[in-house]
Amino acid sequence: MQGAPAGGWGPGLPAVDRRTLLVCSFILAAALGQMNFTGDQVLRILAQNEMQLSLLRDLEGLKPQKKVDFWRGPARPSLPVDMRVPFSELKDVKDYLESHGLAYSVMIEDIQVLLDQEREAMAKSRRLERSTSSFSYSSYHTLEEIYSWIDSFVTEHADLVSKIQIGHSFENRSILVLKFSTGGSERQAIWIDTGIHSREWVTHATGIWIAKQIVSDHGKDYILTSLLNTMDIFLEIVSNPDGFAFTHSMNRLWRKNKSNQPGIACIGVDLNRNWRSGFGGNGSKDNPCSETYHGPYPHSEPEVSAIANFITAHGNIKALISIHSYSQMLMYPYGHSLEPISNQEELYNLAKRAVQALYEVHGIKYLYGSISTTLYVASGITVDWAYDSGIKYSFSFELRDTGRYGFLLPATQIIPTAQETWMAIRTILKHTLRHPY
Ligand SMILES: [Zn+2]
Repeated sequence: MQGAPAGGWGPGLPAVDRRTLLVCSFILAAALGQMNFTGDQVLRILAQNEMQLSLLRDLEGLKPQKKVDFWRGPARPSLPVDMRVPFSELKDVKDYLESHGLAYSVMIEDIQVLLDQEREAMAKSRRLERSTSSFSYSSYHTLEEIYSWIDSFVTEHADLVSKIQIGHSFENRSILVLKFSTGGSERQAIWIDTGIHSREWVTHATGIWIAKQIVSDHGKDYILTSLLNTMDIFLEIVSNPDGFAFTHSMNRLWRKNKSNQPGIACIGVDLNRNWRSGFGGNGSKDNPCSETYHGPYPHSEPEVSAIANFITAHGNIKALISIHSYSQMLMYPYGHSLEPISNQEELYNLAKRAVQALYEVHGIKYLYGSISTTLYVASGITVDWAYDSGIKYSFSFELRDTGRYGFLLPATQIIPTAQETWMAIRTILKHTLRHPY
């Protein structure tokens, strides 16, 4: 569908051609078994006040079967709300917005156009990778490709990197962690995870690039080198393997894991609402059909308990960095409460320096602060649990962009995103190294 005009099915196209194109794209999608998002749009609303925000929140409950999918949920009037609206619901939703005086703009005219471009870029890069027998760090990859890259990466850099299996997903896939270590035993360590929300593809790609960067910077960059002299780094790239496999095979926009419970029709738990800290509180849902469903009980999900058990058993993790997209933010606890944490000032100043280091790479601006005051109240999240478990330096990133592409960030932005993110992480590592506790 590369030939389709950027604005979707443009008015210049005769109706019969449009129908033919639609039919063609449905046939193609059916053949591949993938969900088709032709005509789906992402709308952006700038709510003026709390009342307008609550009108937007109501939208989620209006038609639970064909609900809108919030890419950036209603949070506070200063932050835009982005939502994907299925083609079949567009007229109703736009009528709803207009009748309530909610002004909107169209951020993405036709999601399928971006998905087709993304798939084509992957296919092209795959052909090149095969002909040159090399891995492209500037492309998106499937789970199989990432797991196979992990195996060759670990083999190539066996002196520094090893692979640990910390558990199995709901659908019984291996949950893998890369360990970077120069030796020693019971060392202090850093934990980094990407991809806990499966549709946030730029986070996995950033994790892969960071792994490569750690290996190539070791012995050259004095911060990283001195860190690895005394500490280990653990990096979990695909933190939600089932969801990630599903984003490739069926639904590119899947966020949750793939667990199901007997007698419940909706699938998946939001792995960033399933943690013990503040479990079930505001900013999470007890409706299994919700995108922010917290699950039946804390750590019910194997993908969450694998990390929690590993970190607890390790007992010496000094910094935890959990990476999401999108919105361009660097945040620290709490998410579940507006209460400032006891070292709020230290984390605020550290986040400020990290964001400055990030900015200096490509001029990208990030917001920073606590999760509940910068983004929104969210309960049962990774970094709150980490902080409450004694990890003083707990941070959460929301990577690029601010909504032009959202979760469908073009692969051409992978390397710049990873480069700037790494400089922010390096700032956090440096502080952790210099302020032991
Ligand atoms: Zn996320």
